[in-house]
Amino acid sequence: MYRTHTCDELRMENIGQEVTLSGWLQASRDFGGMTFIDLRDRYGITQLVFNMEDDQDLCAQARKLGREFVLRISGSVRERSNKNPNRSTGNVEIVVTEMEVLNASKTPPFTIADETDGGEDLRMKYRYLDLRRTPVQQNIIFRSKLALETRKYLSDQNFVEVETPFLIKSTPEGARDFVVPSRMNTGQFYALPQSPQTFKQILMVAGMDRYFQIVKCFRDEDLRADRQPEFTQIDCEMAFVTQEDILNTFEGLTKHLFKHTLDVELGDFPRMSYDEAMLRYGSDKPDLRFGMEFVELNDVAKEKGFSVFDNSELVVGICAEGQAESYSNKDIKKLTEWMQRPQIGAKGLVYVKVGADGIKSSVGKFFSEEQLQVWVEKFGAKPGDLLLVLSGEIDKTRKQLGELRLEMGRRMDLMKDGDFKPLWVLDFPLLEWDEDSNRFHAMHHPFTAPKKEDVDRMLNGDHETMKNLRADAYDLVLNGSEIGGGSIRIHDRDLQSRNFDLLGFTKEEAEAQFGFLMGAFEYGAPPHGGIAFGFDRLCAVMNGQSSIRDFIAFPKNNQGRDMMIDAPAPVAEEQLVELGIDLVKEVIE
Ligand code: ASP
Repeated sequence: MYRTHTCDELRMENIGQEVTLSGWLQASRDFGGMTFIDLRDRYGITQLVFNMEDDQDLCAQARKLGREFVLRISGSVRERSNKNPNRSTGNVEIVVTEMEVLNASKTPPFTIADETDGGEDLRMKYRYLDLRRTPVQQNIIFRSKLALETRKYLSDQNFVEVETPFLIKSTPEGARDFVVPSRMNTGQFYALPQSPQTFKQILMVAGMDRYFQIVKCFRDEDLRADRQPEFTQIDCEMAFVTQEDILNTFEGLTKHLFKHTLDVELGDFPRMSYDEAMLRYGSDKPDLRFGMEFVELNDVAKEKGFSVFDNSELVVGICAEGQAESYSNKDIKKLTEWMQRPQIGAKGLVYVKVGADGIKSSVGKFFSEEQLQVWVEKFGAKPGDLLLVLSGEIDKTRKQLGELRLEMGRRMDLMKDGDFKPLWVLDFPLLEWDEDSNRFHAMHHPFTAPKKEDVDRMLNGDHETMKNLRADAYDLVLNGSEIGGGSIRIHDRDLQSRNFDLLGFTKEEAEAQFGFLMGAFEYGAPPHGGIAFGFDRLCAVMNGQSSIRDFIAFPKNNQGRDMMIDAPAPVAEEQLVELGIDLVKEVIE
């Protein structure tokens, strides 16, 4: 028998019992006559004692053991003389009478403790050691619980879990596909799904009514801190529903998950249109843990003789409460430079400091104190507040100010852990005009339906009209992260075909890529819609963490590499020949 208890089970009531534990050596302390070992498993840590007087050989053996050795011990439980109140087993220890070393361990390349000294790539290379650390282990356990609660809730709501294939044809979700060569069809390729979008819609045509899947999706994108080439979605679709039904069902799911994993009760989720979110926060995923809403100044800042503002579409600012004193001219200069970095691209930054004895501003030469006082009133600012103002083209300026708002929120420590602010963002535009490629893109994806009242305009309107079509498309935002997104879909062949036209597909291209879906729509497709949650991100945001990596057992690094198995890697010549892609290789060489 390897164990009678886990390393987190023994308490005062076990005193006197003979027990057997197995686990890893976390730490050992040698006091001459006595040696202490902390034995760890997934559940916790239990202290072991080896007594020189009781058994010299055993004690000598214990002293030689290194960190991460795997042990099985037996002994009797006794009360500890100096208790450790920070540990659940801290009242007791085991006086060891028997020990077997189940396996030795090399000295680990980094400390296996809550705080580790291991760098990111080293931790990934030795992921099996990293996963022994409690915080990482807890994340993975949390993830498992979240998946379980998701299944419970959705199956209670009559959703059926259906697996869709991984070897498919491209789905256009806006990223590049990972492709897989086909041996049996030389020169042809499968694509890994960016999402099961078309399959779940087909399942609705098939009468499945309510579908879900906790599913891997693959997108070949340049990686950022919170992106992974393979990630997991809670993917869902429902037939015979309106947007309202979907919002209610998945608000319910989110509340259920918070209640049953974190014991947090979320109130009803506020809703905001896309336009309103852009107007008030310069973002379609505003972090509502703090205010700092935009105040537009066009009517009081333009046509006062300051040409920068006069030549701008929009003058808009935020009020950083109580920050006037904290920002010297040098600090403002630094903040301005931060805003001017190419990632943000602001041209400049205007400040107004509201003081008890007057107003100071970088545009003081152009505006009188009375004029600036009008700004202050618009902001409802008080002495001590700092106004930060940007100007320029409407969309760009709002986005830039949105970044500044977040940065100020961070600096002022306004985003508190454990504070959860969900938000539905609704009424996204259907299409987005892209100046560079001179064509429309689907804001969500090409299967999203326009709002009912916009269908006519979509079928018959001119180019300009298309820019103003709205969709029943929605995002669920949590603390400034988009954790879910979906839409009511087109279920009519002609409308779907019109959408492909608008997106620049020729009839042949649309037919070749999506003929199967449009064909299915001709056999009694029900009205339907759905949503997908970013499962990894949901885990991270619920735990107040910014990176999804530590919620994925075996993640890839920033270069898309798995450091442990060292992938991707070249394959043998014979494999290429067999796949019929040796020719490609010859061309490259
Ligand atoms: N397939 C979409 C996505 O991956 C979600 C949806 O529309 O249901 O974002």
